[in-house]
Amino acid sequence: MHINDVAQASAALHELLSSEGPLTVLTGAGISTDSGIPAYRDHKGAWKSAPPMQHREYMASNQARQRYWARSLHGWPRLYYAKPNAAHQLLTQWQAQGLIGTIITQNVDGLHQRAGSNDVINLHGDANSMICMDCGQRSPRLDMHERCLTLNPSYASLSPQVGPDGDAFLEGDFSDFHVPSCLHCSGVLKPYVVYFGDNVPRPRVERAQQALENSGGLLVIGSSLMVFSGFRFARQAQQAAKPLALLNFGTTRADSIASLKLVAAIIPTLSNTDALTRIAQATTPN
Ligand SMILES: [Zn+2]
Repeated sequence: MHINDVAQASAALHELLSSEGPLTVLTGAGISTDSGIPAYRDHKGAWKSAPPMQHREYMASNQARQRYWARSLHGWPRLYYAKPNAAHQLLTQWQAQGLIGTIITQNVDGLHQRAGSNDVINLHGDANSMICMDCGQRSPRLDMHERCLTLNPSYASLSPQVGPDGDAFLEGDFSDFHVPSCLHCSGVLKPYVVYFGDNVPRPRVERAQQALENSGGLLVIGSSLMVFSGFRFARQAQQAAKPLALLNFGTTRADSIASLKLVAAIIPTLSNTDALTRIAQATTPN
């Protein structure tokens, strides 16, 4: 069923939560755009700008890392200082009420946790954390950011437009950019994020699959599911004959297998659903 009216979408979602909940929720970039974090893809699921850096490219080339960190110097603070919006907050509330279970997120902004949700699987990692690719030491991204600023004052004074996932639109010659290395072993430091071309660690995928298996269905919010790492959960729901609801403005890869497609704005739809749920709870006799 296809619905593109907020009132109808929220009624359908309310119905689903009350009959099949707790649902597993899968979120993508669309839920964080209202927190000021730009999305990668347009409504048709196509790249808005150049595709993000691949893992292999980052590891193989110092030049690629210079470009990455020069851009990140301006892009990452937007991510770091972003605040959870009403959608993140409603999901936290629904989780506490038992309407939804695990939140699986493709986002690396940490906004679900900062909104207070506790059962969250960061499918693609955490952009506010670093890992050394040689010794495995984890460290805060803020430390890396501050080292980059100190080593590269001429880059710190630029003000390019900010892009998705801690990127910024800066072009040119980055050969004089100093990329800090691991303080323990001088190894290559990488954000603790699953890059394109990387695989999501198997135990993480299995934990998410298990959560979906134990729940009443899957609600996808703000994702085009173009990447297989997210799409596989839509397919899992379909194969298990569980309800699969999609709340997304644009086309998704799972449109043809969804039981419910809601083409409506995220915050109004979730807020309306919440209002309906509260009315229902108030009128249900004990
Ligand atoms: Zn190291």
